Amino acid sequence: MKKKNYGENTKIAHLGQKPDEYYGVVNPPIVHASTILFPDLESYEKRDRQVFQYARYGTPLSKTYEQALAAWEGGFDAIAAPCGLSAITTSFLAFSKTGDHVLVTDSLYPPARTFCSNVLTRMGIEVEYYDPCIGVGISKLIKRNTAFIHMESPGSATFEVQDVESIVAVAKKKKIVTIFDNSWSGGFLFKPFQHGVDVVLQSVSKYIGGHSDIMLGISIGRNKDIYTKLKTAATHLGVCAGPEDMYYALRGLRTLPLRMKQCGENALKIAKFLEGRKEVQKVYYPGLARNPHHRMWKKYYNGANGLLSFLLQPASKKAVAAFCDGLEFFPIGSSWGGYESLLQPQYLKAARTAVPWTEKGMLLRIHVGLEDPEDLIADLEAGFKRFNRAR
Ligand SMILES: *Cc1c(COP(=O)(O)O)cnc(C)c1O
Repeated sequence: MKKKNYGENTKIAHLGQKPDEYYGVVNPPIVHASTILFPDLESYEKRDRQVFQYARYGTPLSKTYEQALAAWEGGFDAIAAPCGLSAITTSFLAFSKTGDHVLVTDSLYPPARTFCSNVLTRMGIEVEYYDPCIGVGISKLIKRNTAFIHMESPGSATFEVQDVESIVAVAKKKKIVTIFDNSWSGGFLFKPFQHGVDVVLQSVSKYIGGHSDIMLGISIGRNKDIYTKLKTAATHLGVCAGPEDMYYALRGLRTLPLRMKQCGENALKIAKFLEGRKEVQKVYYPGLARNPHHRMWKKYYNGANGLLSFLLQPASKKAVAAFCDGLEFFPIGSSWGGYESLLQPQYLKAARTAVPWTEKGMLLRIHVGLEDPEDLIADLEAGFKRFNRAR
């Protein structure tokens, strides 16, 4: 692209296109490779200076994918990871060592917590979980050996919106690296680099993939130094991604804004519907005016996605099952960000420590897809009828 200041839709339509390198073909082709050949001994011995030397370290497709997403988020360069969790673990390992202390948001993606509590702790790294709404209060938790602060906003399942600027300001003063899981926004609704974050990562399996058929991650560094540390960790760990998945990610990227806007619009309708139901105690969706994080969300985000949770009134397992099991358009499954709607029950008691989960009643997270919202609402309405009958 000739300029840097094109609009978001223009950028995302053309990032990573290299027709000149591929006989005019519009989309960068899938490159399947392990071996990459060298013409002679001298070039092999200088292979570290070669762009591509072995496919685990990079291929023309992985570089295109990494640079496209780095440009999309506004960072320097990126590492491709086989999934979002790997993007998280590689980033954590790149910026911590035995004896360090790290600060991790309490509402982070639960399998990332499992990694912290098992692998990081076993390495002799002190992991401290903090209240996602802590803001400048984070300064009280900083220790002499704090290595990084991890943010995920809005948080998993409960969607607390973090005050990124306050946390980054504290971190910068103490020269602490900040890491931000930006999966929720897909890089479209929020740009953490514009607020001073050092590492932005995403589960590309979610909105960028967008079709529930790939596992992929990305971790991006704000400058050359941060990127080099990520790349070194990825090299040591053997982190690389599958070519088909990267191809599908670049394809999904083109329609990301359209899909997110529509899912967000549909989700707001469903959130408002759920807010009015007597069977529901609480709706967790930052786009709702009554949500406690609404103002913070408005400060940082230019829209919401299709993901929301709601807390049912306390009821028997049988009643909850009657609600869930008869739904036509909300099958139970993990993940979100696809074109379709989905439901996942949440069990947060074991997944929260800084802010203990004390709610009674079942928490259900749904992803609202591209279906007609009227059909989705009718489906949920029928579910509440079954719920009431079984209570
Ligand atoms: C799903 C998810 C991940 C993990 O991504 P995978 O691609 O499934 O490994 C990381 N962070 C958040 C916020 C997620 O929702």
